Amino acid sequence: MIQTRGFDVIVIGGGPAGCHTAMAIARYSNQNLSILLVDRNPRPEFGKKTITGWSCGDAVSKGSIENIRENLGVTYYKPELEHYVRGVVAYSPDHETSVLFEGDGYVLNRKLWPQKQLESCEKFGIQMRFHIAARSLLVEDGSVVGIEGVDQTNNSVFRETARVVVDASGCASVLRVTLPIKSYIQKEIDRDDIVAIRRYILEFDHGGEDKTFFDPDVCIIHLDQYLAPGGYAWTFPKGDNKVNIGLGVQKKSLDRRNRIFRKDDNLKSLVDEYVGSNPVIKKAKLPDGAEDRGNVDNAWQASVRRPNDCLVANGYAIIGDAAWMPRPIDAGGLGPSLYASVILGRVIAEAVEAGDVSERSLWKYNLEYMQGYGSQMASFEVLRRFLQNLSNEEISYGMKHFLSYEDVEKITKREHPRFSRIRLLEPFMLFRIATHWPLANGLRYTVKKHSSLLELYNRYPESPEQFPEWHRRLQGELEKAYARFP
Ligand SMILES: Cc1cc2nc3c(=O)[nH]c(=O)nc-3n(C[C@H](O)[C@H](O)[C@H](O)COP(=O)(O)OP(=O)(O)OC[C@H]3O[C@@H](n4cnc5c(N)ncnc54)[C@H](O)[C@@H]3O)c2cc1C
Repeated sequence: MIQTRGFDVIVIGGGPAGCHTAMAIARYSNQNLSILLVDRNPRPEFGKKTITGWSCGDAVSKGSIENIRENLGVTYYKPELEHYVRGVVAYSPDHETSVLFEGDGYVLNRKLWPQKQLESCEKFGIQMRFHIAARSLLVEDGSVVGIEGVDQTNNSVFRETARVVVDASGCASVLRVTLPIKSYIQKEIDRDDIVAIRRYILEFDHGGEDKTFFDPDVCIIHLDQYLAPGGYAWTFPKGDNKVNIGLGVQKKSLDRRNRIFRKDDNLKSLVDEYVGSNPVIKKAKLPDGAEDRGNVDNAWQASVRRPNDCLVANGYAIIGDAAWMPRPIDAGGLGPSLYASVILGRVIAEAVEAGDVSERSLWKYNLEYMQGYGSQMASFEVLRRFLQNLSNEEISYGMKHFLSYEDVEKITKREHPRFSRIRLLEPFMLFRIATHWPLANGLRYTVKKHSSLLELYNRYPESPEQFPEWHRRLQGELEKAYARFP
C-alpha cells in the first residue's frame, strides 16, 4: 500500500494542454504543491507530437493567448507567435463564395512555442522529466495513484506516485484506453470521428497575386470534397513567403471518393496536388533553418467529435487531445486545451489543498468545461456529420444562399449558426429551398438539434450520481441525429 506520494500532481505530456495545466496548478496553489511534468521527448524536442514533428496548422486565436496571459500571467511574443493574421477566410468549392471569419490570431512556430512553455513551467517551480514514456497508471482502492513507464535514456522502469495524475498525452493516449478503475470516462473513439492530417511548412517564390490562394493577412480554408473529402484544405501564412499548408480527410470519405472517381489517392498525393495547384506558391522548398528543422513535413490525426462525456475519475483527469477536445468542425484544439487548462489547474489546486481528489471533488472541472466551451461541441459534431456527406455543389449552394452574416458571426464566436435565412418565406427562398430540399432540411434539423443539445449541456450533472441519467438522454439525442445522418 502506498502511504505517501512522491508528488501532489503528475502531468503526462508536455504539449500545450499539459504545460498550461501544470502552470495553472502552480498558479492557483501559490506554488505550494509539488508538480512533476513528464514528456517522452528529450529537452530540445519538448512537446513534439510524433517522430515527424510538432504536427499542427499552427493557427490560434489571439483570445486564447490572452486567456493564458490574463489567468496565468504568461505572455508569448515573437518568434513563437510567428505571424499575425486578422481572420480566417473559407472558400466554397466553386471559389464563388468566400466567408471571412474576422478575429485576430496568430500562426505559431510550434517548435519554438514549447521551449517558451518549458521555460515558464520551470519558473513556476514545476519539476520536468524528459525522455519518460508513461505506459500505465498505478491504482489503489479504486483511485489512480501514479504512473509507470520507461525512462528512455537507459531503458529502465520509471515509477512515480502522486495524489492526482493528469493525462495530457494527446489523441493516442494509452492511459485513457487502459484506465484500470471504474469511471464514466469513455475509453475508445469511433474511427469515423478522427481525421487524418498532413501538412508542410514551405518557403516559396510568388508566382503571381491571387488572394484566394495566398494572403499574408488571413488564414485560408478551401472546402472541397474532391480535394479533402470529409475535411478541408488550408493555406496559413507564416510570412510573405512562407506557409503552413495541408489538409485533413476522413478515411471513410476518402475511400468513398476514391471509389467514385476510380482513384487511388492518399493523404500525401492529395496534399501534393493541393500545393501543386496553388498558382501563388512557386519554387516551394522545405525551410532548413533551426526554428523549423525536423518539423516541416508531417502527418498525424485529430478527433472531430464532442469532448469525452466525462473528464475525471478518482485521482485522474484528462485534457486536450487526450480528452477529444478539438472542435468537431475544424479540428482546432489549441483554444479548447488552453481554456480547459485554466479550469483544471484551479480545480486540482483546490482539491489537493482540501485533501480530497476523488471523482466527486474533481467533478467541478467537468461541470465548468461542459457548461462553457464544451456545451456547443455536441451540436458541432452533428453539423460536422451532416456537412461531411454533402456534395461540392451543395456546399457551394449552401454557402452562397443559406449562410447569413449572423451565422458567420455565430461561428466566429464558436457558436452554432441558426441558418435563419432558410426560414424566410420569400418566393426566392422558397424556390431555393424547394430545389435544394435535403440540404435546407438538413441544416434546419441541425439547428433544432443544437437547441436540445445545448439545453442538455446546460444541465450537465452536478455530481457523478446524476451522470448515468444525463448520459442516457444525451445518447438518445445523438442516436436520433446519427440515424438521420448515417
Ligand atoms: C496536422 C494538424 C493540424 C492542426 N492544426 C491546428 C490548428 O491550426 N489550430 C488548432 O487550434 N489546432 C490544430 N490542431 C490540433 C492541435 O494541434 C491539438 O489540439 C493540440 O496540439 C493538443 O495539445 P495537447 O497538449 O492535448 O496534445 P499534444 O500537442 O499532442 O501533446 C502531447 C504531448 O504528450 C507527449 N506524450 C504522448 N504520449 C506520451 C506518453 N505516453 N508519455 C509521455 N509523454 C507522452 C507527446 O510527445 C507530446 O509532447 C491540429 C492537429 C494536427 C494533427
